[in-house]
Amino acid sequence: MINDYPASYYAHTMIEAPVRSPLKGRLDADVCVIGAGYAGLTCALELAKAGVDVVVLEAERVGWGASGRNGGFVSPRYAQDLDAIIKTAGLRQARELFELSREGVAAIRAMITRYDMRGVDLVPGYLHVQRYDDMQNIAKLQNRLAVDFGYEVKTLDREELGCLLSTRRYHQAWYESDEAFHIHPLNYALGLARAAGTEGARIFEHSRVTRLERGGNIKAVHTGQGQIRCKHVVFCASAYMKGVFAPVSSAILPVATYVVATEPLGDRLVAAIKTGAAIVESRRASNYYRISGQNRLLWGGRITTRQSEPAALAAMMKRDILGVYPRLGDFNIDFAWGGLMGYAVHKMPLVAQIRENIWVASAFGGHGLNTATAGGKVIAGAIAHGNDRYKLFAPYKARWAGGMIGRAAVQLSYWKMQFEDKIRETIPPA
Ligand SMILES: Cc1cc2nc3c(=O)[nH]c(=O)nc-3n(C[C@H](O)[C@H](O)[C@H](O)COP(=O)(O)OP(=O)(O)OC[C@H]3O[C@@H](n4cnc5c(N)ncnc54)[C@H](O)[C@@H]3O)c2cc1C
Repeated sequence: MINDYPASYYAHTMIEAPVRSPLKGRLDADVCVIGAGYAGLTCALELAKAGVDVVVLEAERVGWGASGRNGGFVSPRYAQDLDAIIKTAGLRQARELFELSREGVAAIRAMITRYDMRGVDLVPGYLHVQRYDDMQNIAKLQNRLAVDFGYEVKTLDREELGCLLSTRRYHQAWYESDEAFHIHPLNYALGLARAAGTEGARIFEHSRVTRLERGGNIKAVHTGQGQIRCKHVVFCASAYMKGVFAPVSSAILPVATYVVATEPLGDRLVAAIKTGAAIVESRRASNYYRISGQNRLLWGGRITTRQSEPAALAAMMKRDILGVYPRLGDFNIDFAWGGLMGYAVHKMPLVAQIRENIWVASAFGGHGLNTATAGGKVIAGAIAHGNDRYKLFAPYKARWAGGMIGRAAVQLSYWKMQFEDKIRETIPPA
């Protein structure tokens, strides 16, 4: 097996993945999907299931982008927070959007079972921990989720939380039902590709799309060595796409974020973290972590708008870990890697028909497992069955994301959020 994935804990523990040949020559299809992350693969799988002739073109390998590098945390909601969604879309539409995001969670679980995906290691449970003392804040959120969105969560006070996590950093928490979970993200992407292939989708790797010809009813999608002639094109290339089609690429800001995996930590890890749940800090610039299959701590956090990984990434993340769990003592970081998330200016996905029969399902930000799944599904539903559920995203248009200026603004706002977190965590509640 050739392993040309970027080095990560996931690439180290990935299942066997067939290397798919690049596109050579000219092929006809109904639909050409660009990008083999969750959005593109889910869209292709659904189209193939509906009997549509679909081709996927991937510049590198299946799951090579964010989909093979992320934290693996799966829960309802979007990268944008619910209050902001209500403000833009209104409560009724926000509810429908929430429901769709929840369906994305259920769809992942169902596909893992239906296609008997190996190495995905689904573990239920999702805990949101708070680094400042404000039970009222959690109670308010619990009420909003229950009343406005019909989603029940449980709150944990300091004592209850102390039974799960041995740290003085946290004050309270809220727990999502076992509906939410975590998985091995790369193995899930590989499982999706295998399922899509079983249903009849054709997937080409090392086939970077360089150009789109839009003349008339039939479009031509060009790679270095080949061309697909098709009726529909779906852009699912997210933050890794450069150029090709400006209305999409210029609307997506690439934002880098990072994950590390420690060496196996044995009993001291289990003594510190007595839950298999995914854990995320309720901060504006948050850390998230979980115990992996090999008793390693997988820890994610930090964002930058630079494309290369910071030289001292492992040391920085180790400091973050020890800031919460000093009693872990010394340990090695065995793997440290980064990935690019795609963000639109409104922090909501771009799920739309941009031009006639040119579609986009991208910009899922840091909450893409469920939403890329949902986005891929609704676009497939639109093409295969004429469904118009994708119009739920109509308030969130593809707008120029500001290029370099947009990236600088994101970096500044992240630093501001870090600063605000620090202030909030040192000031006792009124
Ligand atoms: C480190 C990290 C941690 C994260 N943690 C979580 C998490 O715990 N939970 C969660 O819900 N979300 C998380 N996310 C976000 C989530 O991973 C993404 O939102 C999601 O994977 C996006 O899927 P996608 O299919 O849109 O894009 P991608 O997975 O990025 O796929 C796009 C694909 O398009 C290909 N491509 C690009 N250009 C071209 C071209 N010209 N021609 C052909 N192919 C092309 C790329 O090679 C890539 O494979 C995280 C992201 C990162 C980076």
